[in-house]
Amino acid sequence: MFDEIDHLNEFSTEEFRDKIGTVDEHGKRKWVYAYKPKGKFYTIRTVLSLFYFVIFFGLPFIEIGGRPLFLFNIPQAKFILFGKVFWPQDFFIFGLTMVTFVFFIILFTAAFGRLFCGWACPQTNFMEMMFRKIEYWILGDASAQKQLARSPWNGNKIFRYSLKHVLFYTLSFIIANFFLAYIIGIKELEKIITEPVTEHIVGFSSLLIFSGVFYGVYAFFREQACIVVCPYGRLQSVLLDRNSMIVAYDYKRGEPRGNEKKKQAEGIKGGDCIDCYQCVRVCPTGIDIRNGIQMECVGCTACIDACDSIMTKINKPKGLIRYASENSIESGEKLKYTTRMKLYTLLLFVVVSLLSALLITRKDIDATVMRTPGIMYQERGTDSISNLYNLKAVNKTLEDVPLTIKLEGVNGRIETVGNPYINVVKEGQGSGSFFIVLPKSIIKERSTHIVLGLYQGDKKIASAKTNFLGPIPSSE
Ligand code: SF4
Ligand code: SF4
Repeated sequence: MFDEIDHLNEFSTEEFRDKIGTVDEHGKRKWVYAYKPKGKFYTIRTVLSLFYFVIFFGLPFIEIGGRPLFLFNIPQAKFILFGKVFWPQDFFIFGLTMVTFVFFIILFTAAFGRLFCGWACPQTNFMEMMFRKIEYWILGDASAQKQLARSPWNGNKIFRYSLKHVLFYTLSFIIANFFLAYIIGIKELEKIITEPVTEHIVGFSSLLIFSGVFYGVYAFFREQACIVVCPYGRLQSVLLDRNSMIVAYDYKRGEPRGNEKKKQAEGIKGGDCIDCYQCVRVCPTGIDIRNGIQMECVGCTACIDACDSIMTKINKPKGLIRYASENSIESGEKLKYTTRMKLYTLLLFVVVSLLSALLITRKDIDATVMRTPGIMYQERGTDSISNLYNLKAVNKTLEDVPLTIKLEGVNGRIETVGNPYINVVKEGQGSGSFFIVLPKSIIKERSTHIVLGLYQGDKKIASAKTNFLGPIPSSE
């Protein structure tokens, strides 16, 4: 279907930057047959990926006070973070959370390069630690995969390819289920699974669409998701600097590269790189890290493992490819905490403080009280004045709240229209109208500031401010 990638192609100087390693000169995709890495980093990544999968598949089941720990219900504009519900009214907090996240990403990337891509990104974890491992298990290592791809269609090839794609789709379907659980919650997902499909046409269609997308990505699109789609990957060139920690080839130590015996025969004092291409063969994005930092590198560390094993075999110190900054390789400088990083840290600190303050002061009930428009004050007998108000409240808790309103710090009374309280349904909204009645004797101005206490039983849960209009006192 695709031409395989020719890992042994040679690029001169910076020419490799003019094209993507996985696309040939005719614009045709070159399939990457990445060899299975073996080594310290691969083992650690495998173990960590198990924790990762446990967290990914386990989080939707965790609830706090009857709510999911996380929910990103975009269609209903309802978000739950650590069990706290955020509504469109909390847009400011949500926006600030996003800003904090962006600052964190910038700071993290400036300091640690693409550490996230290699170790924490769902795409890399699922692709390298789940789907590719299944592929190795069914089709064999890269050389066996190439051989099978070139071989004519026969029973063995059909069986292996079918098994691979059936497993890939099944896994994609499972992942899609959990992905949907993060959007609608595990209980809603249960309903889609257990109740007739006809009652959940939208939910079931979403499941099939997500499954199709995941299957397409992991079976066919693969590394292209990181290279041509991921916005984070595209931002690397502006976020990284020469002090960022990246997976880097130590060209000072490695060059001039080449076969050891050949170098000796030619009397060349060679570098440690023996040009064995093992680092290139294991690369899942099909690049040669020896060309320098490249947008396609997802920091998966496979090339570090591959090169370390070669260095061990030829009795040279490990770390020809390692985590390092460009400056540290060029001048031997240690990783530095640069001015740019300090500035990002300061900004991050400011937005985190702001966000924390907003979260701490955030109330479970948000209420707004407004005088009913178009209605003037009313005379109540000879000694009192009343104003009509509307109250709208959002209840972010899991129980209905019967709101009673009290005047704070002023003599007078509240008369609710209809019920003696305003019922605000759980995770919903409520509204009602009421009069504030004040004795004329305390009205000293045309407009008097009033503070209202909103109570659930005896417990004050919020307060609201409003104005009370009265006649202009005769002394004015
Ligand atoms: S260059 Fe190395 S770290 Fe980067 S993607 Fe390839 S194998 Fe992974
Ligand atoms: S694995 Fe190491 S020695 Fe082999 S080509 Fe890559 S950098 Fe050179």
